[in-house]
Amino acid sequence: MRPVVLCFSGLDPSGGAGLQADIEAIGQAGAHAAIACTAITVQSSQQVFGFEACAASLANDQAVAVLDDLPVAVIKSGMLGTTDNIAMLTRLFAQQVIAAGTPFVLDPVLVANSGGSLGDEQTLVTAFRQLLPYATLLTPNTHELRALSAEQDLHTGAQKLCAQGTHAVLVKTSHDFDSGDIEQYLYIEGQMVHQSTLPRLDGEFHGSGCSLASFIAGRLAMGDALIDSVKAADSWIIQTLRAADAPHPDNAKAQLIPNRF
Ligand code: PLP
Repeated sequence: MRPVVLCFSGLDPSGGAGLQADIEAIGQAGAHAAIACTAITVQSSQQVFGFEACAASLANDQAVAVLDDLPVAVIKSGMLGTTDNIAMLTRLFAQQVIAAGTPFVLDPVLVANSGGSLGDEQTLVTAFRQLLPYATLLTPNTHELRALSAEQDLHTGAQKLCAQGTHAVLVKTSHDFDSGDIEQYLYIEGQMVHQSTLPRLDGEFHGSGCSLASFIAGRLAMGDALIDSVKAADSWIIQTLRAADAPHPDNAKAQLIPNRF
């Protein structure tokens, strides 16, 4: 069967972000997505109204059922929602329920693109520190990078997070809306190994971060090297944003939904 990416992620009923973005992006990368659902959010394409996190034991049992059954090649996490869920995932790595050496793409989701809360930021930031040593690649937006590293400078922040245990960090300036083109830097073990510039398209996109991180996870599962997975994801994400669906075409400020097909 196709290699499997096991995702720990939340349900976004609008289908723009969360586990639906993961399933679609991983499928487009050529792999199969399996999901341990960590939270059910209540949101539209434009706004988060609230969420209820799954109990850590429930998310754990979903993951164990998949790990016992399918050839899981890569782990990806998105919205975890609670410190209990972060601790549960850390335990799966620490106790090697997830096989040692399994690549792990950690998208440290703190807030939605719309600004809506997807968990208490400060407690999540503290809890994420225990997961960092298991991460092959961390994919924060600039807000998350600054919150996790407590550094304003993105390069210093990325180097600090590598020093705290993550193997690599992909820095993207997509959330710094006044920064012109989008710059991306890939740091591996504290060294910048790849830099790219992507055009900033008009509009804001709901679920672009989830899609990018999941496509990278899918390519890793397919056997690509980290740097090649990032390059492949760069070209793919631009296509999905250029073709994005506009649920509210009369409102230039309304968020768009990446078209991943
Ligand atoms: N996961 C879930 C369940 C979400 O609802 C969101 C945003 O709404 C995210 C992750 C993060 O989305 P983005 O890719 O826009 O950063």
